[in-house]
Amino acid sequence: MVATRSGPRPDGSALGVDIGATNIKWVHRADAVVVARGTLPTPTAGPAQVAAAIAEIAEAHTVEAIGVALPGHLSPDLRSTTTIPNIGGDWQDFPLADTLQRATAKPILLMNDARAFASAELALGSARGHTDVVFMTMGTGIGGAIALGGSVLRGPGDRIGEIGHMTAEPGGAPCGCGARGCLETVAGGRALAGAWCRTLASRGMGHQDRPATPEDLVRAARSGDTAALEILGIAGTAVGAVLGCVLVQLGLSTVVVGGGVAPAFDVMRPAVEPALHDRQRLIGPVMLLAAALGPYAGAMGAALNATAHPSGAASTLPRLSAI
Ligand SMILES: [Zn+2]
Repeated sequence: MVATRSGPRPDGSALGVDIGATNIKWVHRADAVVVARGTLPTPTAGPAQVAAAIAEIAEAHTVEAIGVALPGHLSPDLRSTTTIPNIGGDWQDFPLADTLQRATAKPILLMNDARAFASAELALGSARGHTDVVFMTMGTGIGGAIALGGSVLRGPGDRIGEIGHMTAEPGGAPCGCGARGCLETVAGGRALAGAWCRTLASRGMGHQDRPATPEDLVRAARSGDTAALEILGIAGTAVGAVLGCVLVQLGLSTVVVGGGVAPAFDVMRPAVEPALHDRQRLIGPVMLLAAALGPYAGAMGAALNATAHPSGAASTLPRLSAI
């Protein structure tokens, strides 16, 4: 699909910044090529400190626009943050776009990180050539996005697609969003690491030097550890149930899975697939695709959309002809 001249300009130069719970990842993209990229720890004191870190990155790069992907929701005008559950500080109503615009004198686009990831995978990654796709990002939590007719849906406050906050276990563990038993409390990276930590502690063999990680759990499962396989099996069953509901509700059958904890999904897959298979009569065989762009996909999506939507107010993100 070719972008119109008056519409997306994904070939402009932009800085894309992806604010994660642990790290900030950024890419400087110009003429459809990534010319620089980097990672730094996410400041934990609050949004002013995060804004200062973004401004410092921007100072070192000559770009037309800046896109910022965030793990949460935005105000209706998409200029301020509202709910950012996994990063320290008070993000409610923080005017991030205006703060950055004053600091950098560049147009600023704010967007949800899963929607940024989806937009990049749709333009350049494994969803290229598809128009109707459900995206799932597995990291500390679980993000999601939906593309229909080649556009990633955002909706008011960029809130469409929160697969990680659909209920997987009614009355279950408290979630950062304020509800209980959300999918990410069962299958998100933090939940998986916590479950593995408890298993190790019950064996009297917790890590001495650092907390357990989802990667430790995946490694143990791959080496045949029964408890590790069981944790990922429970998580996979929950992912299958929620994903099956989403696909049936939307009538879709293509899924792209990415994020830093996506290797856990490979181990979960035997537990995910039966639930999807059971939905076949309604939606046909489900295609599960691995994301193709790696850990900088969110930053790429933010950069691509920063030049495409300089006003920052698009309610959907049309497919960008990025190359
Ligand atoms: Zn939740």
